[in-house]
Amino acid sequence: MERPRLMPAIVQDASSGRVLMLAYMDEEALRRTRESGEAWFWSRSRQEHWHKGETSGSTLAVEEIRDDCDGDALLLRVRPAGPACHTGAESCFAPWLWRIVAERAAQRPEGSYVVSLLERGAAAAARKVGEEGVEAALAGAAESDERLVEELADLWFHSYVLLAARGLDPDRVERELRRRHERR
Ligand code: AMP
Ligand code: ZN
Ligand code: ZN
Ligand code: ZN
Repeated sequence: MERPRLMPAIVQDASSGRVLMLAYMDEEALRRTRESGEAWFWSRSRQEHWHKGETSGSTLAVEEIRDDCDGDALLLRVRPAGPACHTGAESCFAPWLWRIVAERAAQRPEGSYVVSLLERGAAAAARKVGEEGVEAALAGAAESDERLVEELADLWFHSYVLLAARGLDPDRVERELRRRHERR
């Protein structure tokens, strides 16, 4: 079967198996990827070839390229040099709120509440998690459903900020939960 001009390429972390991003490749992008060992794509918005990581430094070292069953999609198994998503998240499929927090952490826009928290350091972010944890517990014990939801939202948000302040990705927490489940 002849290859379509553009093939969707699913990019997967070779060590964790995590799906990092999706982009498109044509024959030329495939050739450049095979030659350089680093992922090249076709940018549909810019209509040009694109060496992933050229500006961000987050290149993708390609360990393996697989065709799918009917030759219309690719799987790239990679070792990423940094966050694969332009937001600063490791994965484009990271939770919505984390992509926002990661983006603020990477770009540090003025007037951002996340940035003001990050500038006060990990200990300050940890203190916020402590406060919100207590507030969530109090709401869970004796307040309305709406109050509990509000306080859990505060807790989750500040937990993300603490992870960002420590330079950690929430996937670490997700993996720990999965590891515990699998160990049962
Ligand atoms: P980079 O290749 O990481 O230096 O990023 C250069 C440009 O490519 C960014 O400004 C985005 O337009 C685009 N880009 C980077 N990473 C992604 C991604 N995971 N998905 C879609 N577009 C991306
Ligand atoms: Zn297919
Ligand atoms: Zn992305
Ligand atoms: Zn609160």
